Amino acid sequence: MNATIKSKRRVLLLGGTTEARLLAERLAGDSRFDVTVSLAGRTHQPIRLPVPVRVGGFGGAGGLAAYLRSEHIELVVDATHPFAAIMSANAVAACEIAGVPLIALERPPWIEQPGDTWRTFDSVEAAVAALPASPVRVFSGLGRLSLDALLAAPQHHYVLRIIDPLRENLALPEATVLTARGPFTLDDDIELFKQHRIAIVLAKNSGGDAAVSKIDAARALGLPVHLIKQPAVPDRPCVQSVDAVLDWLEAHRAPPIERGV
Ligand code: NAP
Repeated sequence: MNATIKSKRRVLLLGGTTEARLLAERLAGDSRFDVTVSLAGRTHQPIRLPVPVRVGGFGGAGGLAAYLRSEHIELVVDATHPFAAIMSANAVAACEIAGVPLIALERPPWIEQPGDTWRTFDSVEAAVAALPASPVRVFSGLGRLSLDALLAAPQHHYVLRIIDPLRENLALPEATVLTARGPFTLDDDIELFKQHRIAIVLAKNSGGDAAVSKIDAARALGLPVHLIKQPAVPDRPCVQSVDAVLDWLEAHRAPPIERGV
């Protein structure tokens, strides 16, 4: 008589995004996959996930390849943020070195619509340099790691939305710091921009739904947006939804093992 044994595939999910959290929630308890989420460790109190989590860098592509081998990882899902370009490039290189299949969950960038007044830039520094010479009230959704770039235009009043409270003193003379974790709604952001009399919105073109409310609110209020383009990443297999990642995993699940008894 034969018995069918189901074996689990070991999956590394590179995270730090809403989509990675949604994937972890969908895969928790799935008997076909043994999922570990990897976080860089940028957020002090990340949202708790229902699967094992490891935190911190791997030490470049070579370090990640060594991790894939030592942890017997069989599949890698890159669900990092579109601006986490170093991690994404490392994932491509490491999976090639270790011979592990990779899928990336890509967010198509937001597209300018008629009536939008967008200016697009290759870097945060260029977007800040293009702010007006005279003081204006600027909303920054760029995140904590981009705060230094704002020092190049200290005449403006910045309304900064960040996840963790700032530990260091902010060198900007004029700033309102709001600590909040998205996703936010269109109504939230319309209200916020009105309340703070925002004149210009600074944002990364992150794409997707989780962070789009500020763009929609700027559109609704007719505000100009300084938008930073997504950085380039090496060619890799990509899908554009959480469901499509799940389909890919399904296609790569372990075949059942037939054992004679
Ligand atoms: P990055 O510039 O591409 O990566 C810098 C280094 O951080 C990587 O080389 C890697 O270190 C480490 N790292 C990045 N993501 C990691 C992960 N998920 N697990 C383990 N190590 C990771 O990345 P970043 O832009 O600083 O983003 C860091 C994290 O924040 C990512 O997980 C990303 O999804 C999330 N995030 C980023 C943004 C953004 O605007 N950049 C926005 C929202 C969320 P080693 O080389 O040592 O492996």
